[in-house]
Amino acid sequence: LVSREHHPQRSVVDVAGVPIGPTTMTLIAGPCAVETPIQTLAAARMAKAAGATLLRGGAFKPRTSPYAFQGLGERGLKILSDVRDEIGLPIVTEVVGVEDVDMIASYADMLQIGTRNMQNFPLLQAVGATRKPVMLKRGMNATIEEWLMAAEYIAQRGNLDIVLCERGIRTFETATRNTLDISAVPVVQRMSHLPVIIDPSHSGGHRDLVLPLSRAGIVVGADGLIIDVHPQPDRALCDGPQALIAEDLRELSRMVGELSAVM
Ligand code: PEP
Repeated sequence: LVSREHHPQRSVVDVAGVPIGPTTMTLIAGPCAVETPIQTLAAARMAKAAGATLLRGGAFKPRTSPYAFQGLGERGLKILSDVRDEIGLPIVTEVVGVEDVDMIASYADMLQIGTRNMQNFPLLQAVGATRKPVMLKRGMNATIEEWLMAAEYIAQRGNLDIVLCERGIRTFETATRNTLDISAVPVVQRMSHLPVIIDPSHSGGHRDLVLPLSRAGIVVGADGLIIDVHPQPDRALCDGPQALIAEDLRELSRMVGELSAVM
């Protein structure tokens, strides 16, 4: 269902009126985790001012350590939905458990499946049974074939509004958190009609890498970027070192505009 053999034209996924696909370069930005109403609103204002058209924010966080901040849960979703009302950006948020899918779908405009859950097949089937667009991140240990098969689990349940997100894979390299697999973008676009975006924040794990990796992603043809931002990254409860501040985000947005104009 997700292959180009089945559907030769590349698809555009509509997220509450915001298109993601070959005709646009969609910028998604927001905090890694929803922490407080003030922090989320500030991050959303930064995102909107830089031209982002979708707001990201995690309320259910799949942390490696059980002692790390796990997210605010439904309280975080209420904050996101209040911020959406105030700022007007549709929201993308992660779902980590099958039991929460319907509740999260009642708040979210797009459901995110994170790298750690790419092969959580019951979860893929559960989001496939909703009518919400899904962002499916690549498993950090997954091949492209396995990633597309994971998308197939969602599509098989009747939901073809899937956006693939390359977020880096595990390699022997330790200088970055993960290695952004730039070649995945054209390879996936050759194999599948689904849009593919990149996450330079979670792949590199460092603020300094976000702009160069974004540039690389755009040049190889990514359909969008998803970027972590925070009003005070040094106080962030999750992944502060990779979060952009307002000034960095404006620079990124300028670069996106310039590159999109010449491509
Ligand atoms: C995220 O986007 O909040 C996240 C945890 O990303 P990943 O699943 O790619 O690690």
